[in-house]
Amino acid sequence: MDQLNICVDIDGTITEPYYWLEKANWYFDTKIEPKNVTTYDIHEVLGIPRQDYLDFYHEFGEELHLNAKIRKNAKEILEKIRKEHHIYYVTAREKRMEYVTREWFKRNDIPNAEIHLLGSHYKVEKAKEIKCHIFIEDRYENAIQLALAGFEVLLIDCEYNRQPLIDGITRVFTWKDIEKEIKNYMDKRQKKLLEEIA
Ligand SMILES: [Mg+2]
Repeated sequence: MDQLNICVDIDGTITEPYYWLEKANWYFDTKIEPKNVTTYDIHEVLGIPRQDYLDFYHEFGEELHLNAKIRKNAKEILEKIRKEHHIYYVTAREKRMEYVTREWFKRNDIPNAEIHLLGSHYKVEKAKEIKCHIFIEDRYENAIQLALAGFEVLLIDCEYNRQPLIDGITRVFTWKDIEKEIKNYMDKRQKKLLEEIA
């Protein structure tokens, strides 16, 4: 059977993108709402030095990740995808977050697959290594880098990624859209294969 290698980011893609807000508002005494999160860098959103955010993340990162809410339909659609394709979770989270990441997957009953914690936002090399067909992401810069390297990207819509897209990136709004786009990709791929045989 024709199977795809599908890379799936975690934060903002499988999780709700603004799950850290409540804790951050409490800690920094701010009143940021999701609509204010128009840039990916949280310290900029909060109007604080980067180091202050890193201190906060150092203290509460595990707790935030463990309590992250999952996006609507993510679990169900991932289950469906896994029946037909290979899933690889590829996250910029640091290695030290491996335990909480696996624990969160278990608690939320998310389909099991390899988890790659890169400790960096640069995902192109990993995508090459995996021979990725489709990369599901929420970070705009990652989407651009991946698309420029020739990968198909599904960019899940967030307040902070509404910049202009380039070829290779499709904006999706829900996990149901993701399911549809993977089907479209497969249809096109099979059509192309048939044309090649004919
Ligand atoms: Mg992300």
